[in-house]
Amino acid sequence: MIARPLTLLLGVAAGGAWGWWRGSLPLTLGGAVLGALCWFLWDMARAARLLRWLAASDGDRVPRLSGLWGELMERSRKRFRALEQKAQGSEARLQDFLSAVQASPNGVVLLDAQSRIEWSNQTAAQHLGIDPQRDIGQYVRNLVRHPNFGAYLDGGNFSQEIEIDGPGHRPTQPRKISLQVHPYGEQRQLVLTRDVTAVQLADAMRRDFVANVSHEIRTPLTVLSGFVETMQSLPLDEAERQHFLGLMSQQALRMLTLVNDLLTLSRLEGSPAPGASEWVAVQDLMQPAVQESQGLSAAIAHPVHQIEVVTGPSMHVAGNRSELFSAVTNLLSNAVRYTPPGGRIRAGWRLPGDGSCELFVEDTGPGIASEHLPRLTERFYRVDRSRSRETGGTGLGLAIVKHVAQRHGGQVKIASELGKGSTFSIVLPPARLRKDSAVA
Ligand code: ADP
Repeated sequence: MIARPLTLLLGVAAGGAWGWWRGSLPLTLGGAVLGALCWFLWDMARAARLLRWLAASDGDRVPRLSGLWGELMERSRKRFRALEQKAQGSEARLQDFLSAVQASPNGVVLLDAQSRIEWSNQTAAQHLGIDPQRDIGQYVRNLVRHPNFGAYLDGGNFSQEIEIDGPGHRPTQPRKISLQVHPYGEQRQLVLTRDVTAVQLADAMRRDFVANVSHEIRTPLTVLSGFVETMQSLPLDEAERQHFLGLMSQQALRMLTLVNDLLTLSRLEGSPAPGASEWVAVQDLMQPAVQESQGLSAAIAHPVHQIEVVTGPSMHVAGNRSELFSAVTNLLSNAVRYTPPGGRIRAGWRLPGDGSCELFVEDTGPGIASEHLPRLTERFYRVDRSRSRETGGTGLGLAIVKHVAQRHGGQVKIASELGKGSTFSIVLPPARLRKDSAVA
């Protein structure tokens, strides 16, 4: 600090000395003023350098300055660096925050006071069909054209969420987006979106399921209560009584089968998949299942079906015996129930060569039109409703088979042609299979 007045004094003294050397008082005074002026110009030049540096966009070219201006420059430099670091920290935190919002399963859109998009994450872009970069600054109502949305924004009551059709929504393939506006800051709005298609689908399936079960149970119950009423009100002889009791027992059995299938399904859905600790010999699975189906055929078909076992390589499957047995018997019971009496049924297992094993049941029944095949394993989906009912079907058999296959890492394969018969297979993955020699 002391350098500054010293250099000024030096300038004044040098000017004065020059005047004194020239031998006149006015020149001495003039020289001192001139010295001060020179010092002032020199000082202004240094200040100008500092100002130029402050104004420059790249603050890296630091001018060499000493004294007060150098000190000022050094302090400014430190202050700038601290501010820069602070800004970098804030920027990093902002980026972290935006990345977290990007990762959110919910869509987030920020709107300004005029409902123009300020920012949106990728999820919201997918939900609303907007572009997170291109559509910044666009009026959101110009992009989301669902009438509910416009009315919602105009209404100003955001206490409830609303539902709109998502991009690509079609009646056959619905896509539903739930959306709620949360006002914040100075007339700004935060829009949160959620894809509720799956929830709605699950809801619809649950409603259908309850309606189906109620319907399936109501029918035999109505018949049963009709018989009870008849027996209570009419004087019946023994033969008639026996006839009615037989019909009643049939209806009770139908309900029992339905409840048993429902319980089986709920057990399959609610329990962990079978581990690989139990090994079931495929031979011991198919043989008794085929015997059981021969019994069923003898009970309902005249002449009986020709049912044969097609033995594959001797092997074991890792899984749950009773589940696999119930899946195979379901396929065999379908073959017997839908194939006309005297028809041929072949059941067995084979290795298609890709490491998997197919447990298959093949029949010469009526076959199934291709449009039904994708829906066949849905609960209560039936092609031939009356044949299913007549033969005690619940509409749940193939749903059970599909669940068992999936719990064993496999899948159900259906090949069928109208008038030629059907082949149903449970395809089990290599991880669940062992050739007998490896187990022994
Ligand atoms: P169900 O108890 O009605 O037999 P499933 O789920 O086992 O129910 O089968 C669903 C539908 O698939 C049946 O109603 C029937 O229309 C059809 N189906 C199943 N297996 C056969 C088959 N082997 N041949 C012809 N149609 C079949």
